[in-house]
Amino acid sequence: MCHLLWPERCLVCKATILPDDDRLCRTCWQELSAAVSADYCRRCGRDVSPYGIIAGKCGHCQDLQYEYDGVIRVGRYESTLRSLTLSLKFAERTEWAATLSGMLRQAVMASGMHAAFDYLVPVPLHWRRRAGRGFNQSHLLARGLKLPWIPVSTDLVRIRNTEQQWNLKPPQRRRNVKGAFAVRRGHPFDGKTIALVDDITTSGATLEECAKVLKQAGAQKVVALVIAAANHD
Ligand SMILES: [Zn+2]
Ligand SMILES: [Zn+2]
Repeated sequence: MCHLLWPERCLVCKATILPDDDRLCRTCWQELSAAVSADYCRRCGRDVSPYGIIAGKCGHCQDLQYEYDGVIRVGRYESTLRSLTLSLKFAERTEWAATLSGMLRQAVMASGMHAAFDYLVPVPLHWRRRAGRGFNQSHLLARGLKLPWIPVSTDLVRIRNTEQQWNLKPPQRRRNVKGAFAVRRGHPFDGKTIALVDDITTSGATLEECAKVLKQAGAQKVVALVIAAANHD
């Protein structure tokens, strides 16, 4: 990126940064590393203490059923990580895709699950929204994972142009995405373990609906890989 403006400013908080700083100020880098190092529930993706997990479930998800079989996340959806994922989606800061997917790659490698995945499947945008935005941020993240032995499949498609989930309350979110996804004819998902890639999960409604469609198509296991997971609905 070329810097035509001086002084350079932190992408998140707009504080002036030094030429040695890497795109963010030090405070924002520190916040980011705190959001990333928090413990989380491998089943629902929410923050949890290591002692808060019983039989693989946390207090939030112990009575809930999910179509997906687990969540691998970079960090919690707040402060710096929230700003960065939103800037990827809305401000076309696609240069952040490499940084964020590099962090997701680390989380995947640390989980030890990368050997089990047959396909990386980005949560699709409707073609009309992708045309408007010019890219699908989830597809950028899936490619940026740099796991070349796992093919990226775009055979999960969005057949209905839904309202943006963040505009809606949790019960509306589930309704909003219901029936919004389908698989293409000739898809390769039967009997496979799928890594479903998305940028943000809040209520989990989108991941849930995608996982349901993939399971109906015969997928054996669906694990969600997300940059940021919210602790609230
Ligand atoms: Zn900052
Ligand atoms: Zn949980």
